[in-house]
Amino acid sequence: MSRKPSPRIETQLVHAGEHKPRFAGAAVLPIFQSSVFEFPDARMEKSNYHDLLYPRLNNLPNHKVLGDKLAALEACEEAFVSASGMAAISAALLTVPGEGGHVLVQPGVYGGTHNLLSDDFGDLGLSFDLLEGEDPAQWARQLRPQTRAIYVEALTNPRLQILDHAAVVQFAKAHGLVSIIDNTFATPVNFQPRLLGYDLVLHSATKYLNGHSDLTAGVVAGSREWVEKVRKRLNHFGGNLDAHACFLLHRGLKTLALRVRHQNETAQRLAEYLESHARVRQVSYPGLASHPQYARGQAWFRGFGGVLSFELEGGVEAACRLIERLELAVHGPSLGGPETLISRPATSSHSGMSAEERARAGVSESLVRVSVGLEACDDLIEDFAQALEA
Ligand SMILES: *Cc1c(COP(=O)(O)O)cnc(C)c1O
Repeated sequence: MSRKPSPRIETQLVHAGEHKPRFAGAAVLPIFQSSVFEFPDARMEKSNYHDLLYPRLNNLPNHKVLGDKLAALEACEEAFVSASGMAAISAALLTVPGEGGHVLVQPGVYGGTHNLLSDDFGDLGLSFDLLEGEDPAQWARQLRPQTRAIYVEALTNPRLQILDHAAVVQFAKAHGLVSIIDNTFATPVNFQPRLLGYDLVLHSATKYLNGHSDLTAGVVAGSREWVEKVRKRLNHFGGNLDAHACFLLHRGLKTLALRVRHQNETAQRLAEYLESHARVRQVSYPGLASHPQYARGQAWFRGFGGVLSFELEGGVEAACRLIERLELAVHGPSLGGPETLISRPATSSHSGMSAEERARAGVSESLVRVSVGLEACDDLIEDFAQALEA
């Protein structure tokens, strides 16, 4: 018997999950811009009220196709899309711990996630602790009888730290915890956490998955059991993705591999260029041999994405001057879009933290973060060269 080879990710991006037969033969899935769908029969014998199509139930053809495609991309049994990354993250974190639950969380997670944990968890009778150090023996001392989950990110923002993901999964299995990972910064092109054994894989699809800086969306993928539970909660909260945004995300996804590979390559070259520049003090990018988790990254990741961060000689003043003088990079937050973005995390993504918390996360006042876009790499390097020369 011949085994059918599983399609490669470029092919899955185009073909996985697509509705067969195609609606009216259309190569591109139409937008089901309808909030009402007719019942098939007067006596309701051929239909079940619970199978009703309704946008908030995340069950329009636009939702189903995206869910099936994302499940294939993340090598998961099931997946669904949501109105934003935070809709996905909050639905997961308000489902998995259960009543009175406790979660262990990697320090330095996305600011919105940190706010959910520190501002909302307590009100809802839930609790969390930040993981101390990298030794699972130490994590075990932080366990409580109510600990139900461990929550981490593939790569942290903005220093791109990489945990020992195999150790996280093993720790979760040994202690009966659900392992949850935010894979936004890596994307399934670079890393598929489910293959390592993570239970739930979350995304802000606002970033690379959509890739065009024109919508917010999120993804929950993972084991059927957990995805179904989280989906039910999200449907109660009303965090569905609108059909038109589904269409845009679906369109954006088809080029994900092309975009991410270009961004991997550009970020690597820009990181090497900056590291060799006399005015640059230190560069954080996992593809540099100087990165503290370089070996880990090589073992598990196929690439490291488009985000890098660095410090200049000359501190905050030099950082601001660089931002002013760059002609191509847009001074703005976020990541994963076609345009290169530059920001100072201390005044953007990490401005909600105290100076002390920032220092602990390795975020100095002068740290600069870049999300490379889809411009020609040589043009970007020339732009950085002129801005650093001035
Ligand atoms: C942006 C981001 C989020 C939140 O996503 P939204 O789509 O803005 O709600 C979560 N995690 C990471 C790592 C992010 O970069």
